[in-house]
Amino acid sequence: MAKVVKFGGSSLASAEQFKKVGDIIKADPERRYVVPSAPGKRSPRDTKVTDMLYNLYDSVSDDRSFSEVMKNIRARYDEIIKGLGIKLDLSDEFKFIEKNLKGGADKDYAASRGEYLNGRIMAAYLGYEFIDPADYIIFDKKTDNYEAEKTYKNLGKKLAKIERAVIPGFYGAYADGTVKTFSRGGSDITGSIVARAIHADVYENWTDVSGFMIADPRIIKNPAKIETITYRELRELAYMGAGVLHEDAIFPVRQEGIPINIRNTNDPKDDGTWIVGTTSKKSKYVITGIAGKKGFCAVNVDKDMMNSEIGFGRRVLQAFEENNISFEHLPSGIDTMTVFVHQDEFRDKEQSVVSSIRRMTDPDTIDIESDLALIAVVGRGMKSTRGTAGRIFSALAHAHVNVKMIDQGSSEINIIIGVANSDFETAIRAIYDIFVETKL
Ligand code: ASP
Repeated sequence: MAKVVKFGGSSLASAEQFKKVGDIIKADPERRYVVPSAPGKRSPRDTKVTDMLYNLYDSVSDDRSFSEVMKNIRARYDEIIKGLGIKLDLSDEFKFIEKNLKGGADKDYAASRGEYLNGRIMAAYLGYEFIDPADYIIFDKKTDNYEAEKTYKNLGKKLAKIERAVIPGFYGAYADGTVKTFSRGGSDITGSIVARAIHADVYENWTDVSGFMIADPRIIKNPAKIETITYRELRELAYMGAGVLHEDAIFPVRQEGIPINIRNTNDPKDDGTWIVGTTSKKSKYVITGIAGKKGFCAVNVDKDMMNSEIGFGRRVLQAFEENNISFEHLPSGIDTMTVFVHQDEFRDKEQSVVSSIRRMTDPDTIDIESDLALIAVVGRGMKSTRGTAGRIFSALAHAHVNVKMIDQGSSEINIIIGVANSDFETAIRAIYDIFVETKL
């Protein structure tokens, strides 16, 4: 049995946090492969080491600010080393980093050093072997993404021979050795890649919250926790902005059905949230989660007898395609078709889109409604429960929220509702209350 354990920046921000992490790892001998992030914020006003490193890169041509930033970064690591009481001197590492940056190393290299150095400390603290992902996670120059199969094979072969190892998160390298990072928050992806490469039993992702909440805590005070969620449900919620985990972290483990367990370093007894392929476990409530986003526009195109005009829908969508705008939702009626788009993408191009639609479809009317929000109510339990949509409607009617659009995916695991931006929070509260508070 082997578990991959990834720790986020807030779990490794100080020596005190490192000690908690050490205790967690030692509490379970199956926790054999450790993926650390760079030190995060120690307090809300603190700066993440990754941001300090980007800053370092930007000040490379200004000697004074470069050494000032370098000194502050070094202080973060030295404070951790001292607090842990380990014997480790990073002087040579820092000299080497300085030499490389002054010699023209790029931004990704600078940012990656946050994880690299934290990995060095973690390996020394735990007495585990250090594995540099630049040697195993291989990026493709053409796609700028990692080469999945090659990477899993490389890493799997190497780790099969190592009982316990630390593999820093967030980066790999092109075949020529140039370091390349994932997008921000990318240590989650590294954890998932390592889990996949060693065919782990579980990928534990340790952070500073006890998993996913049913709704955004900024809208619902102390929301209930999601105990188990499927990859598919998570994808629906993540798309609507619910984020604890990097979106691309699902893919490597999903292919092998390796469960992800989101855990809280500051509350290790809490079992967190399990993200799984399939489950027979019913969620506690009919819904698994609610998420949403503001800032959409709806473009309504009306034409009598539209439903019998072959190619009408394609032509409407072509108008968006020609203007390089992707659509989000597409509810339609007999004589009308509505296209939901992101307002900020659409604003500058709206007149051009409208005239393309006119030219291509000769509609009766086109009107645009802006400042709309979309809310996704997601749950595998909705499939087998009658009346879910009805309950959502009545909750929203009671809360005086006008529903502009409703769209149920054929998978029956999500219902998307369109409301005015100004009704967004009220709508989420109403839906949460009806399903969770009153347990309907
Ligand atoms: N340290 C990187 C960031 O701040 C990557 C990570 O933490 O996952 O984005």
